[in-house]
Amino acid sequence: MTPALSKLVFVMLAVGWYLIRYEYARRSRREPVQRSGRGPREATLLLVSLAGLGILPLIYIATGIPHFAAYAFQPAQAWLGLFFAIAALIMFQLTHQALGRNWSVSLDVRESHQLVTDGIYRKVRHPMYSAFWLWAVAQALLLPNWVAGFSGIVGFGILFFGRIAREERMMLEAFGDRYREYMARTYRVIPWIF
Ligand code: SAH
Repeated sequence: MTPALSKLVFVMLAVGWYLIRYEYARRSRREPVQRSGRGPREATLLLVSLAGLGILPLIYIATGIPHFAAYAFQPAQAWLGLFFAIAALIMFQLTHQALGRNWSVSLDVRESHQLVTDGIYRKVRHPMYSAFWLWAVAQALLLPNWVAGFSGIVGFGILFFGRIAREERMMLEAFGDRYREYMARTYRVIPWIF
């Protein structure tokens, strides 16, 4: 692995994610929303996450900025990054497939919303956020820059911890005991750990 290839892997991760999401986003947009947690707070969280996972690393890849934060490239670290990037894309595909039209970029419950508790959602109730954590770790491993590498963990971390309790509260309001029971037998992000 070389520094250029490592950057290419990150770009392919971002492109792959976009391609997976595009079709599901188009379909789910047509589904009317019944209740929503959108607002300035959600918009800010989304922007912070986008900056950390996308904008900062892509600026670094295009320009090398911020130069002061560069450190020595390690091929083994980048190979591990490739592994995390592939795992993230597989998880994005599986979670989008499972959520289908119930997916939303923000917090929405749709009129015909189905609670998904099977397949990739059987043990973990936020596997798409698991996929974003895999992305953030891949980014830190692939980009040898303290700022552009770690901005994903910080940016997505802010979205995750700022959103997760509100998302679960919204799901409890919409699905009541079914979601309560689902919560009782699942983990949030990593099976048997968290
Ligand atoms: N937190 C989930 C989903 C992220 S997409 C994950 O990480 O996999 C966000 C949307 O998914 C929210 O609008 C919410 O309504 C919906 N959602 C979350 N969990 C769901 C589930 N188990 N079944 C159906 N929709 C769900």
